[in-house]
Amino acid sequence: MFKIRLLAITVILFEFQSSGSQQVWRVVPTTQNEIIRLRELGSTLKIDFWIKPSQVNRPVDFLVESEYEKEISHSLSVSGLPPHSVYIKDVKSLVGQQVAESKLAKAAFTVADFDYSVYHRVEEIYAWIDMVAEEYESFTTKRQIGTTYEGRPIYALEFAKESSNPKPKIFVDSLIHCREWITTASLMLVFKQMLQNDDYASMLDEVDWYFVPMINIDGYVKTWQEGGRLWRQTTRPTASSACPGVDANRNWDAYWSLPGASPYPCDYDYHGPTAASESEVRNLASYVLGFGYGNISAYLTVHSYTQLILYPYGYDDVLTPDNAYLDSTAKKMADAIEAVHGKKYVYGPSATGIYVTSGATDDWAYDVAGVTLSYTYELRDTGEYGFLLPPEQILPQSEELLEGFVALKDIVVANF
Ligand SMILES: [Zn+2]
Repeated sequence: MFKIRLLAITVILFEFQSSGSQQVWRVVPTTQNEIIRLRELGSTLKIDFWIKPSQVNRPVDFLVESEYEKEISHSLSVSGLPPHSVYIKDVKSLVGQQVAESKLAKAAFTVADFDYSVYHRVEEIYAWIDMVAEEYESFTTKRQIGTTYEGRPIYALEFAKESSNPKPKIFVDSLIHCREWITTASLMLVFKQMLQNDDYASMLDEVDWYFVPMINIDGYVKTWQEGGRLWRQTTRPTASSACPGVDANRNWDAYWSLPGASPYPCDYDYHGPTAASESEVRNLASYVLGFGYGNISAYLTVHSYTQLILYPYGYDDVLTPDNAYLDSTAKKMADAIEAVHGKKYVYGPSATGIYVTSGATDDWAYDVAGVTLSYTYELRDTGEYGFLLPPEQILPQSEELLEGFVALKDIVVANF
């Protein structure tokens, strides 16, 4: 009898959890005051912002679990905020669609045969890294730069074709925020084109490239597990047992713990207990510093979404001495991207133009590693699918990203 009752309770609990739906709501603040109130609500209600409150008339997107719909809706109206619109109606069905399509991926044993039209699990991306390193071994090195908190190896692919003169170096990383699947998926295709399409041969002939396809690998594994698709943080325990993980892109040892990051473990932008507390950040930082101060010409840390090209500083409303160079280069990349499929990318100094972030990769690369052209890319889209960009967009995304890289390469080579 007791057993049967326990079973019944378990079934009810299970149904309760799985029946909950999720939506993405959008609120567009019209005053500075509304931005402040949205931030406060975010903290009180532990809201997962997809686009954080930043500027007047810039949309704010956030995830709403169906069980908290009423509470959040009520809180918005008593705070005197503008009415919300439901921007993504059914998050779970989009997640299901992405995973279902990835199951259709063909098995591949070569870089050419790899199926770039779907998202891939961590093992498949590790296999792709191996294929690249083996097929292009004459100029490619697969280097382990450290391990994650859970012990998974973090790899860099180093592409350095022989040359009689030294070449500039461009560094690219992705998936520090593990739910931003489009970043790694489209970059794998960008590098495939650089390796295999003769039209882009100059990319590897004129520049040495360093590519870290997955940083927050533990988190990425979690995003493929039931209910984990929207995980953003690392997976290391924090002071709050209810809220493990740190926002690794607020954890860098540059202006760490200033405004633009949260000291609270349950906030989506928690900066961690100390600067570089996360092994993923620590390992990547020491690898980059190994190149020596000022020896990398450009650093692109790739995120999604909202179509932005941001550059330092993020921690405060201050411009770097290289602002004009950073700005003209960002403009050329944005123009090249727009020319492909008409997608507009807004560019500018992060804190002054878009939003404040402290302890982020781009400020660190600029200040600590001495990389002048230091950028945070935010890829597609502007909110229709957010982090759940359909796999059909991997190809067009990679096409525009590749042209952005070509524009950057030309500038870097000309100024080397
Ligand atoms: Zn991100």
